Amino acid sequence: MTVELISVGTELLLGNIVNTNANYLAIQCAGLGFSMYHQVTVGDNKDRLYEAIDTARHRADIIILTGGLGPTSDDITKETLASLLNKELIMDEYSKDRIMSYFKNKITENNWKQALKIKDSLVIDNDNGTAPGYIVEDKNNVFVLLPGPPREMIPMFEDKMLPYLQKLQDKVFLSRMVKTCGIGEAKAETMIIDLINNQTNPTIAPYAKNGEVHFRVTASANSSKEAEQLLEPVISQLQARFANNIYSLIEEETLEEVVVRLLSDHNLTLSCAESCTGGLVAGRIINVAGVSDIFTEGFITYSNQAKMKYLNVKESTLKAYGAVSEQVAKEMAIGAAKASSSNVSVAITGIAGPGGGTEEKPVGLVYISCFIDGDVFVNKYNFRGNREKVREQSVIAAIDLIRRCIVEIYG
Ligand code: ATP
Ligand code: MG
Repeated sequence: MTVELISVGTELLLGNIVNTNANYLAIQCAGLGFSMYHQVTVGDNKDRLYEAIDTARHRADIIILTGGLGPTSDDITKETLASLLNKELIMDEYSKDRIMSYFKNKITENNWKQALKIKDSLVIDNDNGTAPGYIVEDKNNVFVLLPGPPREMIPMFEDKMLPYLQKLQDKVFLSRMVKTCGIGEAKAETMIIDLINNQTNPTIAPYAKNGEVHFRVTASANSSKEAEQLLEPVISQLQARFANNIYSLIEEETLEEVVVRLLSDHNLTLSCAESCTGGLVAGRIINVAGVSDIFTEGFITYSNQAKMKYLNVKESTLKAYGAVSEQVAKEMAIGAAKASSSNVSVAITGIAGPGGGTEEKPVGLVYISCFIDGDVFVNKYNFRGNREKVREQSVIAAIDLIRRCIVEIYG
């Protein structure tokens, strides 16, 4: 089954609104196992909309249209589809009653437009507005018409359209996520390139985002059980290849949630000392609900003065090695753990740019240290990108380093 999405609205073309409907519907269609090869955005113009639908119906089985179902004269989706299919628009008594009770006595003439339906189409109730949705079944296509406002479109899609579309799909699609951190996208892909090249069912799709690489493994089968059986060996292979670079197999679980869970499992408390990340690590950790028993303190020690004052970093160390050095990172981690009486502490010091880089210590050079129950680990990183990117990558690397250290020590 192929599906094409047509977003209707001049506002979308002008950039006045972001096409979040397309984003949402594309994810839903992928989940249903439909192949989507085209998405089209077209303004509120009858000729161009006609052409877009006409093109879509020759290359896709299902055509989903959003927007242009309202009462005003620029809402023309239903009318255009009717004329393309040579079908009449008829008054739908049920919609008429609904509109009547919705507006009480304040009906304006153009509201009746929303009670018109394409002959033989299914009218889908809108529980959050007045414009109903429609399903129109034609010889070779199914047309799904949804209102534009996301707060009307999403509930209608989830409650009413999804069950209908599921019936059009005879296969079951199951997918699992393998979430890795600490290896770049190119390297991660190379590590499993043979699996990617030979994939048929399940498929393996990599996604890189902010220092993490995720792989979505998707199997299609006649039953959930069969799909599970197809997924199992592929997931095992990925686990063997990526080993401890994998931080979770759960789609919704974030890296910081995993770290908080590990800390909690081992009865550990955490503090952090941040220079170039300026509190971002603490912010990410504290985003996790229930972290109050685990997180003790976060120090933002940007100046050398602050590093000495709060973390007891030695002046001689700063003089001898500079603030961005392995030695200072270590002293920061040890100092934060001591000052806050935590078992674990992570410290970050680096050059985020744009200024401050030298040949010896370029922009992107970051040292991250993790103190854990007396042991101190430190890593050197050379991140690329602008200030924001360097800081973002530092945050992920710091949180990931905590995870790796706990796993290393506690197994
Ligand atoms: P209405 O009854 O409100 O007129 P409609 O079905 O006719 O609804 P449109 O007139 O095309 O839909 O759009 C109404 C509003 O819905 C837009 O102003 C915008 O806020 C939102 N909207 C429309 N299309 C999209 C989209 N693709 N993504 C996100 N929001 C959208
Ligand atoms: Mg409208």
